[in-house]
Amino acid sequence: MNASQDRLGPADYSATPRFAGPPTFGLLPRLDEVQAARPGAPIEVKILGVPFDSGVSYRPGARFGPAHIRQSSKLLRPYNQATGAAPFAAQQVADCGDLGVNPFDIDEAIAAVQANADELRADGAKLLTLGGDHTLALPNLRSVHRSHGKIAVLHLDAHLDTWDTYMGAPYTHGTPFRRASEEGLLDLARCMHIGIRGPVYGAEDLTDDEVLGFQIIRADEYEFTSVAAIVEQMRRRLGNAPVYLSVDIDVLDPAAAPGTGTPEAGGLTSRELLNTIRGLQGLNLVGAEIVEVAPAYDHAEITGIAAAHVGYEILSLWANRESAPSGPAGAFLTAD
Ligand code: MN
Ligand code: MN
Repeated sequence: MNASQDRLGPADYSATPRFAGPPTFGLLPRLDEVQAARPGAPIEVKILGVPFDSGVSYRPGARFGPAHIRQSSKLLRPYNQATGAAPFAAQQVADCGDLGVNPFDIDEAIAAVQANADELRADGAKLLTLGGDHTLALPNLRSVHRSHGKIAVLHLDAHLDTWDTYMGAPYTHGTPFRRASEEGLLDLARCMHIGIRGPVYGAEDLTDDEVLGFQIIRADEYEFTSVAAIVEQMRRRLGNAPVYLSVDIDVLDPAAAPGTGTPEAGGLTSRELLNTIRGLQGLNLVGAEIVEVAPAYDHAEITGIAAAHVGYEILSLWANRESAPSGPAGAFLTAD
């Protein structure tokens, strides 16, 4: 771990005011800066923006999500007091900028996202994608499936996103997990939605969803049980499988995330969301995404800050990959 001194970290907080720092996630270095400073050295985590929202069914605007999350991430500090992680020092993290994809051709965009994910992950790096709308889950899952086999998807969202089509269209932000299940990418015994709520089209939405491989923890269960009980159920379901974490920011209540495209009342608090993600510590997290941040509906960076902190907790999980659960968040993490 002494190699941490060689790692290229965030811009020097003491030399430059944070608000004047670089426009990267957490003021971290860009990929090309890391490659120039540490030629040939491993880059454990890569962060990629995908400004694509042509798959949305309601309010547009998530194409501006990556820049907004980065802008809202300038205040992130290097030590996670909840988990004991030092996510910028324990591993080399680089911001790869944005992938520009065709907003007029969803099939082409999906293919481009997958090819780019394959390329960025070819050296073994973990990829954190900042969306963009939830259509991105499908190419990201195709990519991690290629290297890890069947994936346990942990999907945090108000919505199932296992619908079949919208107006005949198979590739949208409401359908990625049905397509992924149909393509055989998922471990049908280990996928899970958390935070589901709001009206659906009918009871068959739920029975279909179960056949596609998902178990549901609804948002209201946070009120009736506890984060600890939910984390325990989540860890039992995910087991030792390769886990892909997909966070739709609308899993949060509109009070905690107004800046999103399909808001639903009765969602999680940001505290519940962060503690749920901390509950993944020690599991085999192979990739992650944060999607559906639409800044035009945000106020005072409420949604952007929530998304930035979700990203920080994901980086912290990777930083602590080899560690036993520790810190206050470890109190409710029992070994399997
Ligand atoms: Mn959603
Ligand atoms: Mn979604």
